[in-house]
Amino acid sequence: MSESGAAREWTRAIRLIETSSGIYVATHIRPDGDALGSLLGLSLALEKAGLQVAALCADPVPSTYAFLPAVDWILSSPPDWQADVGIVVDCDGLARVGALEPALAGLPSLIDLDHHDTEQAFGQEQLIDPTAGASAEIVYDLLREMELPLDAEISTCLYAAVLTDTGRFCYGNTTARSLRIAAELVAGGADPHAIARKVYEERSMAATHLLGVALSRLAATTDGQVVSSVLRPADFAETGASSSDTDGIIAHLRAIGGPRVAILFVEPDHDAVRVSLRSDGSVDVSEIALEFGGGGHAMAAGCTVTGKAELVERRVLDAVSLALNRPSEQDAG
Ligand code: AMP
Ligand code: MN
Ligand code: MN
Repeated sequence: MSESGAAREWTRAIRLIETSSGIYVATHIRPDGDALGSLLGLSLALEKAGLQVAALCADPVPSTYAFLPAVDWILSSPPDWQADVGIVVDCDGLARVGALEPALAGLPSLIDLDHHDTEQAFGQEQLIDPTAGASAEIVYDLLREMELPLDAEISTCLYAAVLTDTGRFCYGNTTARSLRIAAELVAGGADPHAIARKVYEERSMAATHLLGVALSRLAATTDGQVVSSVLRPADFAETGASSSDTDGIIAHLRAIGGPRVAILFVEPDHDAVRVSLRSDGSVDVSEIALEFGGGGHAMAAGCTVTGKAELVERRVLDAVSLALNRPSEQDAG
């Protein structure tokens, strides 16, 4: 049987990595668990295999993920040596790497390793699988394909990534494969209890106060089909919370029974609004996020929109309302 296009792509990507003289591995701004776990798991495995590697993320690591092995190794800008290969993980479009974009776009070879499905792929080689619950599942497959060993450090990083992107193995993107990979990672030394405690049970007082503010502002619109909340610059000042303390708040909005779409508007400063969108599956919120220059998945997407907060919020709510009332999507239910 002849090798499929996807298999050829994997073979070419692996050859690029194995023959590289130096690799930049990078992930998206405002990194989440999958971004950091995939970045560190892959970087550690390649470094332990004897390759020269720099792990890059333009934004700081949220305190929630400070427990990840080798987290201090992450650089916010490229090192003083030049790579010949870049691997960009968990990024729906190269622009998601933020300030690192010029350094990565200029590399001789770029590999896009991702599980988003919005046709914003980039690079010479694409290891893209929208059926993967987390980019870390693709990293896992890549390391297995390259016959690289998974030690406790690498397993911890990849497990934290799969855990968070599948919503603790609860979201619709959780598959038998996610659970099988998670089992292998636990066998490889990841501690599920310790990791879950770090990620979900050490929220700071400031972050909890911020959650309280968001919950006190719940608003139902579009005949109860949409629930939303907003966080203003003053809320961060008053609670002492940081911008990354908004992580996890949208899960509380999403947990409300009834609404089809949950939206969190965050105005970290006065000229842009960060929008998080979650869907019950009856409407594809990545299409809405794309309209505003963002991206994501059908049931979890986001965008950052410049402009006056109230206007941005109105435009996004209108777009969501329009999508919800489109007959085909209602029929698809
Ligand atoms: P969040 O609401 O920030 O947790 O993001 C949900 C999903 O949308 C994730 O898959 C993100 O990668 C994606 N996403 C969030 N913001 C953006 C953006 N500005 N551009 C592209 N994708 C985004
Ligand atoms: Mn991510
Ligand atoms: Mn992801």
